[in-house]
Amino acid sequence: MKNPPASEVWYVTGSQHLYGEGPLRQVAANAQTVVDQLNASGRLPLPLVCKPIVTRPEEIRALCLEANATPNCTGLVLWMHTFSPSKMWIGGLSLLRKPVLHLHTQLNRDLPWSEIDMDFMNLNQAAHGDREHGFIHARLRLRRKVAVGHWSDLETQDRIAAWMRAGRAWADWQGGKFVRFGDNMRGVAVTEGDKVTAEAMFGFSVNTHGIGDLALVIDEVGDDAVARLCAEYEERYQVVDALRQGSERHESLRYAARQELGMRAFLEDGNYLGFTDNFQDLHGLKQLPGIATQRLMADGYGFGGEGDWKTSALVRAMKVIADGLPGGTSFMEDYTYDLNPEGHLVLGSHMLEVCPSIAAAKPSVEVHPLGIGGKEDPVRLVFDAPAGPALNAAMMDLGNRFRLLINEIDAVLPPQPLPKLPVARAVWRCRPDFKTACAAWIYAGGAHHTGFSYAVTTEHLEDLAEIAGIEVAVIDADTRLREFKARLRNDEIYYHLASGIGRP
Ligand code: MN
Repeated sequence: MKNPPASEVWYVTGSQHLYGEGPLRQVAANAQTVVDQLNASGRLPLPLVCKPIVTRPEEIRALCLEANATPNCTGLVLWMHTFSPSKMWIGGLSLLRKPVLHLHTQLNRDLPWSEIDMDFMNLNQAAHGDREHGFIHARLRLRRKVAVGHWSDLETQDRIAAWMRAGRAWADWQGGKFVRFGDNMRGVAVTEGDKVTAEAMFGFSVNTHGIGDLALVIDEVGDDAVARLCAEYEERYQVVDALRQGSERHESLRYAARQELGMRAFLEDGNYLGFTDNFQDLHGLKQLPGIATQRLMADGYGFGGEGDWKTSALVRAMKVIADGLPGGTSFMEDYTYDLNPEGHLVLGSHMLEVCPSIAAAKPSVEVHPLGIGGKEDPVRLVFDAPAGPALNAAMMDLGNRFRLLINEIDAVLPPQPLPKLPVARAVWRCRPDFKTACAAWIYAGGAHHTGFSYAVTTEHLEDLAEIAGIEVAVIDADTRLREFKARLRNDEIYYHLASGIGRP
């Protein structure tokens, strides 16, 4: 994928000077042991860097400022090996702008019952040292994740790993750029939003280029490069006969390849993380980009159709979270239903733009009319998505806040072949059930565009929402509609009060 910058997480151990230099040296050595073992576990996507233990307010403040000023620092894991009086932390934490994970662990797993003395007690105080620390986090309203358990516990390591992935997506957003080719689809509400507030809250910027700017770059692509990409299509995919070299519609394939090369050049030249387009605004293009958008998504670019920049940014974040995990991630739209009570299935797809990272088998390359937009027939990859647990996520701008909405689902293979459907698709069953999930989604104002993923989990997205400070609502196997509605109403009050005249 188009990778985010290399990064690391700082492991910060707090202590104090009550017990002399010997115990402090031991604390430092123990912190290094924990870091070395966690790095050796192979379960963490980012390396932990053990920082010198901090024992004074000036050190803590300097460390937090250094973290803010270090682009490579994705976030901080905090651990109070001994007691670290937390008023010392107020100055530093009040300035800290990086994600925080509070790891509540201790060096030893088992208590040495027959050996334990007061020296051991004074050296291993996380049980109350981390509570003192948790209080100052709560008192300062610090956004953070708390992970609890011995550092060798695989579940504990997985909590850290999930947070690291969310932190990496957050770091990727900071200063990131998304380009909109053309504006919003006329009249559509949910794809709109406040791009100024989004930039202030999420760190990424969204700006528009007229589609003519892209058309110029596409037209400049050389014929040799087009021929090479067409050959790659024929090698990697099942290209229908009519599009193959020497066949009557090969020129459509050549134009699709030209679009991909032009769009790729535009995105690379502008160092963009993702993009949107709009079938109503294609002046200078012969087709709505299909295979081009699909393959760019597979390379890690975010995408949203019809000018949907929030979904483009969300898909990009989900791509970064999922990097290195099995299972693909795509832009998606709830398209149509099977309301047979035995099924109650959702057929998800889009006009063209479903990412081949979720293809169950080799995609075919086909050309069909689009039916809208009045342009030439676009070339697209067609495939089914595999069965397995997955989720849909959407982000909406509610005027006073952003809401991230998640529905855990179970993708299934289509119950029957779809020989006449000329687009890639996924079929799924909603948790807890179709009626509850769809009602909850609609009560929450959930978008029809989503990020769909087999790799990203609710935990990843909850961690990202916590870092960003936005509302997150989850529809899963435990969702009850009455409680879900009450939660939305409570959030309405909370975010109104928390935001004052601006945003939280
Ligand atoms: Mn759409």
